[in-house]
Amino acid sequence: MRSSWNDDDAAAAIDRYGAQGVGEDLALRTYSARLLGSDPTLVLHGGGNTSVKTRARGLFGEHIDVLCVKGSGWDLATIEPPGHPAVSLAPLLRLRGLDALADEGMVNAQRQNLLDTTAPNPSVETLLHAFIPSKFIDHTHAMSVLALANQPDGPALIEQLYGDRVACVPYVMPGFALAKAAADAFDSRSGLEGLILINHGIFSFGDTARQSYERMISLVSVAEDYIAAYWTRPDGFSGEPHGLSVAACFPVLRGLLARHAGDRWPSRWIFDCRATAETRAVVDSPRLADLASRGVATPDHVIRTKRLPLVLPPLQGPLEAWLRSADKAMQDYVVDYEACFQRNAAQAATPKTQLDPLPRVLAIPGVGLIGLGAGASEARIAGDLAESWAATLLRAEAIGRFEPLGEADTFEMEYWSLEQAKLGKSKEKRLARRVVVVTGGGGAIGAATARAFAAEGAEIAVLDVNGDAAQTTAVSISRYALALTCDVADPGQVRAAFDAVCARFGGIDILVSNAGAALTGMIADVDPAVLRASFELNFFAHQAVAQAAVAVFRAQGIGGVLLFNASKQAINPGADFGAYGAPKAALLALVRQYALEHGTHGIRVNALNPDRIRSGLLTDKMIASRSTSRGVSEAAYMSGNLLGQEVTADDVGQAFVFSALLEKTTGAIIPVDGGNVAAMLR
Ligand code: ZN
Repeated sequence: MRSSWNDDDAAAAIDRYGAQGVGEDLALRTYSARLLGSDPTLVLHGGGNTSVKTRARGLFGEHIDVLCVKGSGWDLATIEPPGHPAVSLAPLLRLRGLDALADEGMVNAQRQNLLDTTAPNPSVETLLHAFIPSKFIDHTHAMSVLALANQPDGPALIEQLYGDRVACVPYVMPGFALAKAAADAFDSRSGLEGLILINHGIFSFGDTARQSYERMISLVSVAEDYIAAYWTRPDGFSGEPHGLSVAACFPVLRGLLARHAGDRWPSRWIFDCRATAETRAVVDSPRLADLASRGVATPDHVIRTKRLPLVLPPLQGPLEAWLRSADKAMQDYVVDYEACFQRNAAQAATPKTQLDPLPRVLAIPGVGLIGLGAGASEARIAGDLAESWAATLLRAEAIGRFEPLGEADTFEMEYWSLEQAKLGKSKEKRLARRVVVVTGGGGAIGAATARAFAAEGAEIAVLDVNGDAAQTTAVSISRYALALTCDVADPGQVRAAFDAVCARFGGIDILVSNAGAALTGMIADVDPAVLRASFELNFFAHQAVAQAAVAVFRAQGIGGVLLFNASKQAINPGADFGAYGAPKAALLALVRQYALEHGTHGIRVNALNPDRIRSGLLTDKMIASRSTSRGVSEAAYMSGNLLGQEVTADDVGQAFVFSALLEKTTGAIIPVDGGNVAAMLR
């Protein structure tokens, strides 16, 4: 691997941060920490940590020697100067004289000595950074080094490859004991460039930011070069599955997860499937069961991935048979996880509370590795770590045998209070863990609806006949929103779009069937072709997407919500709008029929009747001409309702969200029109 150090960029960082009052040491620390963070083969998602020893000024103008060390919650890829809070160095160094120090005492001592009391907690590896005297220290979980550090003969191999450049530290859990062991290893030999922590990762150090960073690159390159002699990265994969499609199996799997979650654990999970050459090399291996039983590449990952992935059978039909064996595999996983908890909690010094027993990574032959999470962002982290696990494992097996940390030590890490603190403890949003499909999501109402659901924590799939418009909405939501071009009047396109949503997120929880268009003309004169086209879009398309959604809901078996955009036309027709109102009136019958037939499946079905919303159906030009013909101002026309207020696309979006949240309401038709007696249901 090559150094990405660039003198011009480093100088620019000194200038940029200097203008914010940040000193050169911390500016360069931030610059090179970000270089490490930008390479996923070195660190991933909050992994790794970095430090610099420098001087700060106290309230009386005195100099204080400080350690600026990565604070919790910061990611090296995006770290800024406040991400390395300053801790007084002298009190930390005194701690080395203690024989032992419990984690809580260590965290407390670190916080006590922060110069800024509002700063985040310094890294759990702070004392290691303090006890090693080098000015700059870099720590990563580099994949290639982990392939060496997880070998049965790791220390001998490392000595053979690195000679006097590094010392090995046997596995100790992060904290005070590891800091002392690492410092002792550092003191045992002069001229060291780094330490390799068996089953964990690598540290490098130097007098300058550049020296420490480039030693990391050089030490990792030694591992890469050694591995390259035994192994070449697969550049593709073949052997497509197997009769059953991912789109058919993921919702079934999602339902299985819910069944095994029971009432005690969260039932809905979001998927992130990784089908790469390396993940396929692992899941398609005849030794998959063995490989999947080994453990995580570095214990830091266990809180995101659990120790073991769940191995599922290859996707071979019939679906019923596959479902039975997947069910059995998941049952065994849950039983094994709980047994593992009992076994290890009984040995633990402090009482432990069991976490959910569900897997975070699924391994399916012919498919890949699938990360699971409460949302797309968490699923992505599990997916990234699963990919990194596969890559490390393949390299380790090529040069010997992948033999990572065992069950007991990994358990200790998974249930370590300081690791648990890294997981978000904040309350989930009301629609977290839900996947919402919005048709016509490129238009004003669809886009506002998609954003309203996203704001409640849902994952969003935006369907629109205009792919660019769908994309615009998706981009306005987040990197995780999915945009799909789909003409809902074409059943083939509907099936393809729903399959794509299931393959991406694992399933669907809520459908907002919103796409529509107003076709006009006096009903006695209307061209039959126009009327039929209107029925295609304003009735049959709703039926097609509802059928597709219900098929997914049934596969999952965890209920679902169908929401329709009807129209006040369905209740209170306007002249010349018969071709639009007739299919919308039929749509209300559809709502009631679905509500009637699927209540027992936990599927709720509701519709909104919005009216007079500024959108593609009611353009500014139409508003101008209608208000002129009625002799009122545009504002008066738009607010011509009982509340005297214009109703917006955002109001409709909010109404869709609320109707999705009404847990005990189905078959309801809710007006969103500011109040209109003629459009009231009776
Ligand atoms: Zn680490």
